[in-house]
This record gives sequence, structure tokens and C-alpha cells, in this order.
Amino acid sequence: MATRASTPTSTTRTRAPSTRRREKRFPDVPEGTAPEPAGTSLRALREAAAACKRCDLWRPATQTVFGEGSPKARIFVIGEQPGDREDMAGEPFVGPAGRIFDQAIEDLGLDRKSMYVTNAVKHFKFEPRGKRRIHKQPNPAEQKACHVWLERELKAVKAEVVVCLGAIAAKAVFGSKFALMKQHGEWQELPDGRRAFATMHPSWVLRQRGDADREAAFRTFRADLALLTELERRH
Ligand code: SF4
Repeated sequence: MATRASTPTSTTRTRAPSTRRREKRFPDVPEGTAPEPAGTSLRALREAAAACKRCDLWRPATQTVFGEGSPKARIFVIGEQPGDREDMAGEPFVGPAGRIFDQAIEDLGLDRKSMYVTNAVKHFKFEPRGKRRIHKQPNPAEQKACHVWLERELKAVKAEVVVCLGAIAAKAVFGSKFALMKQHGEWQELPDGRRAFATMHPSWVLRQRGDADREAAFRTFRADLALLTELERRH
């Protein structure tokens, strides 16, 4: 089946607020810190993360893109970081890579409403190039700084299964030795007993050159996600 999305997030145009306006946000929050959440609910976590300055990524980005979904979701999905569209919308998985994910789960008969979706890093990292914002990978210090939010989300959402999309998400959950290209599509067990697996990030599908390679990558991605149909059959 042909993939419906083909435009990488890195080439979309920017409409972000001015640098001066962005830098004036949250004047009471010192650099390198974040407000303490007023509880453990997703709402409390989202409110605190909105003013996070634990690393420098808050400054050029439009806003924190926190996870979306119910605390009762059965499937917890982790991507890498928001893209250009997500940064503008303030919602995860709404850009081209999100559409690839949606297409795969739709093909498998899965419902996104049963999922909580978030990213390992909550601000969009990019390099301005003319009017475009080119995606840049968060460095290990930025990934580490943001891990506190992912840990809290994992505690707040009692999902049965955790799915990591891409190497950054997989290493955040399984540790730095996890080899995505060797271990994708294999069940793992987390220390809290939950089952988990990793697959490639949907942007990997979009990055393939040529229709044939893109189709093959999409089939691999969808085959890994098919592990979730086992869970659906039990309900
Ligand atoms: S990327 Fe994460 S740690 Fe860094 S400022 Fe944003 S929310 Fe905070």
C-alpha cells in the first residue's frame, strides 16, 4: 500500500514567534530548572512542563509539546522529539511522520484513542536555514534533561505496553546499549513488569529514497507495530 505522506518535516516553513517574545516567557523560572508539578496527574505534569527550562531547547522553540491521550490508555507510544508542525500546533504526531504512524495503525485496525503518545524530548530542536527550520537531533545532555518528564508520564499512564519509535526513544527506555536495527520488533520486559518493544521512527520511512525503498520500510515498520494486534485480540 502506498504511503500517503511524503514531505519530510525538515522542509516545512516556519511561522514561529519572534526571538524576543519567546525569550520573555516564564521570567520566574530560572535557567536550568523547571517548576515542580502540583501533583502527579498528566494535567499537573503538562502545566509544569510548559514552563520547563531544564535545557536550552525551550528558547528557540514555540512551546513544549507534551504527550496526548488518556491516563487509562493501554498503549504508551514514545517518539523522539516534536517536528516543525508539532512545535507550531503544540501536539505530538500531527506532522508527516505522525501521518505515517496513523496509516500503519489504521492498516492494522488499531485505534489511536487507545494510545497515549508522547516524545522523549519535548521541545523541537532545529537549525534555522532561511525561512526553514531544519530538524536537529537532541544531544545526550538534552535527552537526559528531558527524561524526567517521560519518567513521570510513564508513571501517570498505566499502559500495558510501551512502544518506542526510533533510537532516541528506545535508548531512553531500554538503555544506551539497545541496538534498534537488530532488536526492533522484539518484545522486552521493563523493570516494572510492563511489556515493551521498539521499532523505527516513522520519519525513517519518509527518509528512504525512492518509492520501492519507502514501501519496504513502511512494511517493516507496520510489521513491528503488528505486535500490538495481539494485545487488541485479548480485549
Ligand atoms: S527539551 Fe525537555 S528538558 Fe529541555 S526545556 Fe524542553 S521540556 Fe525542558
